[in-house]
Amino acid sequence: MIFKTNGIVIQAIDYGETHRILTVLSEHGVKIPLMARGAKKVPSKFTAVAQPFVQAEFVYARSQGMGMLQHADLTNSFSTLKSDLIATSVAAWSTEMTSRLMGEEMAGNGLYRAILALWEQLNARKDPLVLCAVYESKMLALAGYQPELGRCSKCRANEGLTHMSAAEGGVICSKCVRIGAAMPVSPRTLHWLTMFAQLDLSQLGEITLKPETIADIRKIIRWWWQEHIGGEWKTRNVLDQLTDGSFI
Ligand SMILES: [Zn+2]
Repeated sequence: MIFKTNGIVIQAIDYGETHRILTVLSEHGVKIPLMARGAKKVPSKFTAVAQPFVQAEFVYARSQGMGMLQHADLTNSFSTLKSDLIATSVAAWSTEMTSRLMGEEMAGNGLYRAILALWEQLNARKDPLVLCAVYESKMLALAGYQPELGRCSKCRANEGLTHMSAAEGGVICSKCVRIGAAMPVSPRTLHWLTMFAQLDLSQLGEITLKPETIADIRKIIRWWWQEHIGGEWKTRNVLDQLTDGSFI
């Protein structure tokens, strides 16, 4: 059967001498593996689409297992994004997060819209580290680990919020804090974390943050991420090396 879908390429792996296997995230939030035969040949009709960070309409044949790419019409090549090393690195990290965290329960077009909006904003030269923090917040929420930020997670007080507690599931007040089990959080960082949780990436205007502010935000998100999801993340390590990961 022949299928047609709009989607984005979140992974492209060489296969043999001349082929590439693409992982396409469809606009319906489904991951589709596609064989792009001859994609490494020069010239190839698949050159423009057989790489990460492209949006296209894919036509493919599939009975069972992997689909065979027949034809693709490029919609967006995100060329500005790809000309910037940090933006490219954030986009790579977004695909690793998406690929590894995406289970059946996360399927749906919300994920597709979020990652596409991230790439579009990176392509529009918005601050990649701000975008990265916003996207990480979205992924934490999609994975079920969105922190409670408005009130103390233990006593429900809405003032004196000084720490984040992984065990309590969010921010906690100075009266409830147990030193050693919580991470200090400044009012400014709390403000931005709350903003990021509510922001629609596609609606994001210009946000300019001081380096120490974004470092603080990244530090909290990183800690929260490791407490709840953990693991080693290859593309995140690359991003850390490019952006002074000493904040960790
Ligand atoms: Zn409290």
